[in-house]
Amino acid sequence: MDHFLYRGGSLHAEDVALTDIAISVGTPFYCYSAATLTRHYNLFSEALSPLPHLVCFAIKSLSNIAVLKLLGDLGAGMDVVSIGEYMRAKAAGVPGERIVFSGVGKTRDEMRIALHGGIRQFNVESEPELRALSEVATSLGKTAPIAIRVNPDVDARTHAKIATGKSENKFGIPIARAPQVYAEAAKLPGIQVVGIDVHIGSQLTDLEPFEQAFQKVAELTMTLRAQGHTITRLDLGGGLGIPYTRSNDAPPLPIDYGAMIKRTLGHLGCEIEIEPGRLISGNSGILVSRVIYTKNGEGRDFLILDAAMNDLVRPSMYDAWHDIVPVIGPAPGVETQPYDVVGPVCETGDTFAKARHLPPLAEGDLVAFRSAGAYGAVMASEYNTRPLVPEVLVSQDHFAVIRARPSVDEILKRDSIPEWL
Ligand SMILES: *Cc1c(COP(=O)(O)O)cnc(C)c1O
Repeated sequence: MDHFLYRGGSLHAEDVALTDIAISVGTPFYCYSAATLTRHYNLFSEALSPLPHLVCFAIKSLSNIAVLKLLGDLGAGMDVVSIGEYMRAKAAGVPGERIVFSGVGKTRDEMRIALHGGIRQFNVESEPELRALSEVATSLGKTAPIAIRVNPDVDARTHAKIATGKSENKFGIPIARAPQVYAEAAKLPGIQVVGIDVHIGSQLTDLEPFEQAFQKVAELTMTLRAQGHTITRLDLGGGLGIPYTRSNDAPPLPIDYGAMIKRTLGHLGCEIEIEPGRLISGNSGILVSRVIYTKNGEGRDFLILDAAMNDLVRPSMYDAWHDIVPVIGPAPGVETQPYDVVGPVCETGDTFAKARHLPPLAEGDLVAFRSAGAYGAVMASEYNTRPLVPEVLVSQDHFAVIRARPSVDEILKRDSIPEWL
């Protein structure tokens, strides 16, 4: 459920008409609903209660500091994969003890900054990383709390680019080798083992791969405890999928995911951490764009928008489907027609949808891409020297620009011409 609904035929974000934001901010723009973000965070937190737990929002899905502040104020932790994201969490007022540092390639500089600023735990993905972290922590006179990311070798049955839990993926340590790596960790002076971490992929639409992975984590917990390790936390990663269309099978709900976690891991007495990104942010955001031209092609009509693949890359990168809806709903009984919906970028890949059925649209009309809150603005680039799309946050009847659109002048100023040229 989200808070983007038609009122009097006009699409609103909560109580604000998107046409009003378009006039004030210009197009294209991303728009997020505070009520939807809040609702999704609460669903997860309630699903895990009464187990001790921390819902760590995966910042990589939507990293605007205003959004992080909103979630952090609700009590969320944060899952970061770079020091840049760590600093975003800090800038949003989230304390270090609620920040988990994930990622396969943390540098020593990143470790140093996080240890210095405070960190809940590092999710370590390899033995070289473990040794580097121990050295860095020792040099600072600290010990680094860690979980080791294990790779359970389960098939997440999702898009190949976002599956991470098979043995051929670059992530984590094969679960069979985990006891050996935990034994090494226990001997390192700068390391304190606190738990186990697993994350098998993104946009999973079935609980079964999660359950298989979590059962393996439960077994490993017993094994490691028998070997004398203190395992008090289980970080179960993110990955729960969202419905991108209204027609396809509905993915599992947080409440069912929570019940499955309690069933498979509840008896272990561990604090549960989860790292949802997409399920919190995905349906909390839309991308609003204006039709520049409609063009009649050979056997097809094109809708040429002012948004492009650089603003929302998911369709060209992951073959993703986003519902596209007119901001002013059609009069009742109007027949739809197929459009190829494209952006202005000079690549054929700059196609959002083919033969998409929409009511007739004209130059100047507004359309919205639904479910664009996750992996939308964060993956945007300035390809074709198109300024980064601004972000707007709505709460009830008010809205604010939370990242302004840069001017082309600002973009040009970032380049410099060497004096010898
Ligand atoms: C990407 C990622 C997440 C978030 O995944 P979602 O599918 O957005 O929930 C969580 N944890 C790790 C380690 C990740 O890489």
